[in-house]
Amino acid sequence: MNPITLQTELQYLPGGGPRRAELLSRLGLQTVSDLLWYLPRDVLDLTEVRTPDRLVPDEIQTVRGVVVDRDSRQIRGGRTLTAALLDCGSDYVRGVWFNQPWMMQKLQDGQNILFSGKPKRKQARWEFSHPRIQYLDPEDTESDGGVIPKYRLTEGLRLHELRNLMRTAVDACAESVEEWLPDALREQLHVPHIGTALHLLHLPSSRADYESGRRRLILDDLLEFQLAIALRRRAWRNREAAPALQATARIDSRIRKLFPFRFTTGQNQAIREIARDLSRTQPMHRLLQADVGAGKTVVAIYSMLLSVAAGFQSVLMAPTEVLAAQHWQTLDELLEQSRVQRLLLTGSLTAAERNLAIDRVNRGEVQLVVGTQALIQEDVLFPRLGVAVIDEQHKFGVEQRARFSGASTPHVLVMTATPIPRSLCLTQYGDLDLTVIRDMPPGRRPATTHRVQNRDQQQKAWEFLRKQISAGRQAYVICPRVETESAAARDAAAEKVYDYLSRTELSEFRVALIHGQMPRQQRADVMAAFRDAETDVIISTTVVEVGVDVPNATLMVVLQAERYGLAQLHQLRGRIARGLHQGYCFLFSDSESEEALERLTALESTSDGFEIAEKDFQLRGPGDVLGTRQHGDMPLRVADVSRDAALLDEAHTCALQLIDSNSFESPEFHRLKRRVVDRFGEMIHLPQTG
Ligand code: ADP
Ligand code: MG
Repeated sequence: MNPITLQTELQYLPGGGPRRAELLSRLGLQTVSDLLWYLPRDVLDLTEVRTPDRLVPDEIQTVRGVVVDRDSRQIRGGRTLTAALLDCGSDYVRGVWFNQPWMMQKLQDGQNILFSGKPKRKQARWEFSHPRIQYLDPEDTESDGGVIPKYRLTEGLRLHELRNLMRTAVDACAESVEEWLPDALREQLHVPHIGTALHLLHLPSSRADYESGRRRLILDDLLEFQLAIALRRRAWRNREAAPALQATARIDSRIRKLFPFRFTTGQNQAIREIARDLSRTQPMHRLLQADVGAGKTVVAIYSMLLSVAAGFQSVLMAPTEVLAAQHWQTLDELLEQSRVQRLLLTGSLTAAERNLAIDRVNRGEVQLVVGTQALIQEDVLFPRLGVAVIDEQHKFGVEQRARFSGASTPHVLVMTATPIPRSLCLTQYGDLDLTVIRDMPPGRRPATTHRVQNRDQQQKAWEFLRKQISAGRQAYVICPRVETESAAARDAAAEKVYDYLSRTELSEFRVALIHGQMPRQQRADVMAAFRDAETDVIISTTVVEVGVDVPNATLMVVLQAERYGLAQLHQLRGRIARGLHQGYCFLFSDSESEEALERLTALESTSDGFEIAEKDFQLRGPGDVLGTRQHGDMPLRVADVSRDAALLDEAHTCALQLIDSNSFESPEFHRLKRRVVDRFGEMIHLPQTG
């Protein structure tokens, strides 16, 4: 017989044969190599199984037995009670389910199963209420009681059959799988040889074995991803030179004098880091992270003015028109006395105005441009671009970032609206250097946040709001998020809220509505009127960013707050923590879902945006936090960035070190490098400038 190799087809593997090979091919498995890479989903740990005499009440435990009796009956209150009796050898235990009559079908007499849950002693017998059930393959588990890997199966293929084949394949070939990690790196990361890892995963003798094999594969996954990101980071740095922009003491003090306040320690630190980058020809590629209201805009403006002072252009790109207008207003006020040639590029310019404006930029007459990313990327070609600031608001993907065109490479500063959880930062923004502002401008008081549950509390909240508004404050009311429907439906919902509130709770005040489909000019007018205190209350859908700075607006009501994510709610209430007066945020929600409760309570108890970001991530996962709602965004195979956060950190550090020290270029990394390029070649490649 031929020796078994990785290429051997499964029908020729002892115990294989044409019938099983056909079943295996339904799982996408053709060769021994395919089989080895068919990883268990989990393990069944039978070493932790207890006999009934060793059970204790109210702790999670597992028993194993054979189903010997089942029944289902109506009990009081129209409920059904389904019960199953399990013969555990020495004694019987009972499992019970309320209102789950289908459990009768899920259990069959004679089945070999596990119950897991918290047992209670009932009439001299242990009883599990709603236990978790796991099915055992009797032919498999009779022989060994250890740790059993579980695989996705297909109809007709039994677990013990797959495991027998796996054993043969692992014994014959696992050691011949080609290793791609150099020995030294493997030692540094404390991971086994890849062959050993596969052995531990498929044939573990303890849960620790299995975990050790799994750790190797997760680290591989994360390391390759982080290496790709680190290569991309290096590509940024190796781009064509950017202009070296020197901040002299004179320039520095001239810029600072424009602001009516002193910078915070965090702002100063951020400015130092950025100024250091700008003074070099290596293009800056930096992410500025801070909580809402910490004063990122100040840092962005400083960087832009530094570029202007050094004789170069700068640009600020915002995700929406409203935000672009807001940035523009801030800048325009600061520069009132200055001759800096500046321009706001918005969609409301006529074609002729726009052409004229763009022409002035392209000729280099305009030093400072603010606009939406869409407009600027489409039309503008900067002849002397020094600094580009991108205000991201979580809305742009990695590819779109910084695809503006210019005659030279600019320094790039990316800002996000709210803090991003660390592990997401490492995956989504890992190719940027990171600057974090931790402190807040002085005198800033976080908004007091209250969850408002029932009608009674609602009434009290409205009463409080009316008092505050009568005393001169202004308020935002944020409408319930409408998930699946059209923009029109969303706006209609907001209009209803507006009609209702302006007739009832807010009838004595000047109330305005703002929503997504409103013409741009009208929206700007509504915001301007609010800013000038000509209206008391704005009712808004969040589609319209309430990203506007109105210090006198210190009140906020969020209707059906449970429909919003934590980070989003935090960002919203950031709008009312900017002025001299204490802000109050009321989260209306009568939801009884435990998860919603946990989220809203988190907001009541902390105002630290970084903490909230981590919590949001734990509760909702990466896709939702980034607002993409696409979990598939994460190009990982076995790792999970929230579960494996610690390994991600390790992989990140390791990747940076390998790339920065250049050791990744040495021949021993050849195989690993090929894997990275095969998987992530496209990501490493940067978009072109010019
Ligand atoms: P964000 O980080 O959310 O973008 P902003 O840059 O919009 O924050 O700043 C929020 C508010 O705080 C603005 O009104 C700004 O003028 C003010 N501000 C920023 N820095 C300081 C400071 N050092 N001292 C006092 N007020 C400041
Ligand atoms: Mg801002």
